[in-house]
Amino acid sequence: MKALIIGAGGVGTVVTQKIAANPVFTDVMLASRTKSKCDAVAATIGGDRVKTAQVDADSVPELCALFRSFQPDIVVNVALPYQDLTIMDACLECGCNYLDTANYEPKDEAHFEYSWQWAYQDRFKAAGLTAILGCGFDPGVTAIFTAYAAKHHFDEIHYLDIVDCNAGNHGMAFATNFNPEINIREVTQKGRYYQDGKWVVTEPHEIHRPLHYPGIGERESYVIYHEELESLVKNYPSIKRARFWMTFGQEYLTHLRVIQNIGMARIDPIIYNGVEIVPIQFLKAVLPDPKSLGANYHGQTSIGCRIRGIKDGKEHSYYIYNNCDHEQAFKETGTQAVSFTTGVPAALGASMWAKGLWRGAGVFNVEEFDPDPFLKELGEQGLPWHELFDTDIEVND
Ligand code: NDP
Repeated sequence: MKALIIGAGGVGTVVTQKIAANPVFTDVMLASRTKSKCDAVAATIGGDRVKTAQVDADSVPELCALFRSFQPDIVVNVALPYQDLTIMDACLECGCNYLDTANYEPKDEAHFEYSWQWAYQDRFKAAGLTAILGCGFDPGVTAIFTAYAAKHHFDEIHYLDIVDCNAGNHGMAFATNFNPEINIREVTQKGRYYQDGKWVVTEPHEIHRPLHYPGIGERESYVIYHEELESLVKNYPSIKRARFWMTFGQEYLTHLRVIQNIGMARIDPIIYNGVEIVPIQFLKAVLPDPKSLGANYHGQTSIGCRIRGIKDGKEHSYYIYNNCDHEQAFKETGTQAVSFTTGVPAALGASMWAKGLWRGAGVFNVEEFDPDPFLKELGEQGLPWHELFDTDIEVND
């Protein structure tokens, strides 16, 4: 099987290392906008295991030229959400299967939803190709955890709370853990959660409370909108309420507020000294590269699903989670835990497809596949997971 990875950032680094170490893939290529970054990743793996190439993934003809020469069976898109549709178009044109970790977002609108990619369903189906959407950690493992809970522990899921804690400290005054532009666009938008068939919109960070995370302790957690909620409430219609909580430190929120107040989070172009610039893109250029945070990052991430529902007529609660240590992730891959927790599931999802365990013609969110083979291997790949049954999951109201 031939795998082509697009995007040589923090996530792409981990995906390439994990795919290169997997014998199901006979040929591996890493392509990105800047070829030297691909070469640097390939050099850490050594030999000629990973080929590299330059590609502008905004251009379908450029992508198709690359796909026709390398002939990948599966394309793993870990560039930016802006490139999802062009890469899917090129996959359709050249007969390649597709996997990504983040749903499409137009450059000129800080807004993401699955409709654009779900609209490819008929074309992937007709072509007999598989497109796997959202196979990072969140979205990704959180949806697979939900599928596992639905398969093994519940007849009906009623309440789903996804909790994402980063208790790591990188020693910088302000930095984002993945692409700053995408990250700041995500966390500054209005909150949104699902209740009784409707979406409830809140001001940014309006709802918050302290939650306890295993092995970490109490952290202030904020309801934000996150993309897996959209597919999970569709695929599990028994859900009455679905929310996503993320921890933020006060210092981070203060920086974020200042960045917004002074206009540096703007995504519309402005003219500066006769040159058109987009403030948030300029900000990205001066903020620390998330890939560079790993060396001094200490502490853990803890991401999981807190679920209530019915099994055999009785109400139960269930908590399934993974803790990932920044230092350990850095020791293994040279990246911090956020890149690691995203890259490992993306590489494992591609492996599930390559081994014929996750197949189908059409566009799929990860919870539509069998969670068992994926979760069986996830721990061996560096992300062990744990379950707690009928404990106080703190999110009952
Ligand atoms: P980075 O910014 O570190 O890396 C993105 C890479 O994509 C860079 O190498 C960049 O090239 C390349 N790229 C950007 N535009 C193009 C283009 N037009 N053509 C070719 N290559 C391009 O991001 P991360 O590694 O932090 O994140 C990667 C993806 O993972 C993002 O989509 C992010 O949203 C997603 N993600 C998903 C998570 C999950 O749990 N599901 C969590 C975290 C991230 P260059 O180096 O030249 O800029």
